[in-house]
Amino acid sequence: MYYYTHMNIAPQGPKAARLRQRKFELLGRFPIPPDLLPGSLSLTHRLCGQPTCHCAKDRRGHPVWSLTFMAGGKKRVEHIPNQWVEEVRRLVEAGREFKEAVAEVFAANAQLLALWRKQRPR
Ligand SMILES: [Zn+2]
Repeated sequence: MYYYTHMNIAPQGPKAARLRQRKFELLGRFPIPPDLLPGSLSLTHRLCGQPTCHCAKDRRGHPVWSLTFMAGGKKRVEHIPNQWVEEVRRLVEAGREFKEAVAEVFAANAQLLALWRKQRPR
């Protein structure tokens, strides 16, 4: 199972370099799918503020997708361009499944440990 991303996410600068270095350090230690996303994707509608736009009249606004996630203990909300939505949705869904799988393996390990403590030959 490998999730290849088509978005070609390649930010530059010291912060991007730091994040990438930490990411590859962790990917070297654990078998983690490299491009999954956390959080949740949601749709809201926003008025753009242009007095001549149709949204000023019909008040329905423009669809705006955002990704809400935790980073460094803080809640972050990032706008997601429309052309990325399908792929981001797929990566968020796969990310959720991965996190659930890890939690389930940990829980199974703890339960197996408890069973073994009761069943092991004395
Ligand atoms: Zn508008």
